[in-house]
Amino acid sequence: MSEVRRDPIVLSRVSVISPVRGLRPKEVTLIRHESPQVTVCPFCPGNEFMTPPATLVVEGVDGGVKYLKEDPDFRVSNWLVRVVPNKYPIFTQTNGGSYGYHEVIIEHPNHTIKPYDIPINHLSLIIQVIISRINHLFKDPRVVHAYVFKNYGGGGGASLTHPHTQLVATSITIPSVVEELRFSKRLYKRLGECPYCRLIRKEVNSPRLIYMNDSFAVIAPYAPRNPYETMIIPLTHSTTILEMKDEEITALADVLNKLLTSYKVCLGDIDYNFWIHIAPKGIGNEYYHWHIEFLPMTTLWGGLEKGGNVYVVTTKPEDYSKELKEAIYSLKS
Ligand SMILES: [Zn+2]
Ligand SMILES: [Zn+2]
Ligand SMILES: [Zn+2]
Repeated sequence: MSEVRRDPIVLSRVSVISPVRGLRPKEVTLIRHESPQVTVCPFCPGNEFMTPPATLVVEGVDGGVKYLKEDPDFRVSNWLVRVVPNKYPIFTQTNGGSYGYHEVIIEHPNHTIKPYDIPINHLSLIIQVIISRINHLFKDPRVVHAYVFKNYGGGGGASLTHPHTQLVATSITIPSVVEELRFSKRLYKRLGECPYCRLIRKEVNSPRLIYMNDSFAVIAPYAPRNPYETMIIPLTHSTTILEMKDEEITALADVLNKLLTSYKVCLGDIDYNFWIHIAPKGIGNEYYHWHIEFLPMTTLWGGLEKGGNVYVVTTKPEDYSKELKEAIYSLKS
């Protein structure tokens, strides 16, 4: 029997939960495509001059770190995280209609390190770098919004294998966030509270809770778009990633590490995308609540999904959340 579920916030999105009898969660189609191989990786140490000068570099010095900026004739060699303008930007400061910035966060000097093997303290550094860049780009009065996303693996759309995440800061609000703002504002008016805060209260007591620490919860959405889709959400109300305290950054690094590792255990080195949804400048204070959406490539979407916003999902979120949860707790012991 299939079950139709509507997303509790984005009401224009519907999932048809249609578990295939006898098909265990592990047997969903796993998609793994190699990214095209390049002979020389522009993100590897030693090749810093192959990219534009970094807008921010974290250098490791005597057990600590130093934040630096490069100029056309100068590159930092002993770096831990490096942010460079995208060589093929989607948004630029020159071509009118699509004003903005497009940067690449090179997460680690090691070309072959897997995201689930990046230690928590290094993940914290990456998060700090993202916050620092958004804060800086938000100083441009023409920039209203920022969007951070990761394409992992060829199926996730990555064109280079070296671990990296992308950041765009733009003069438009990203349409999927416009949609969430529209629905959450309406729900706020009806409920008198942030609909995401309400969702958290319900979900942390549901079988869809995967993991929780002092500051964040990882949940399987009630109406996922793909088997194994998850959401990371801060437990206290906050519209953007920008106000996080140090201990919250560490807590976010902890949930990211746990989630990436549990995906590795349950799905192998699967392709995925994740993105960070934050409010645009000065909007949604009462009703928007920032979060990360994590979408592993467990199915290929057809016309119903792409054009209809109707997602046929063969594994119940209550089932795959249990599997991910077990993977996390088996690692802890
Ligand atoms: Zn590389
Ligand atoms: Zn909230
Ligand atoms: Zn979202």
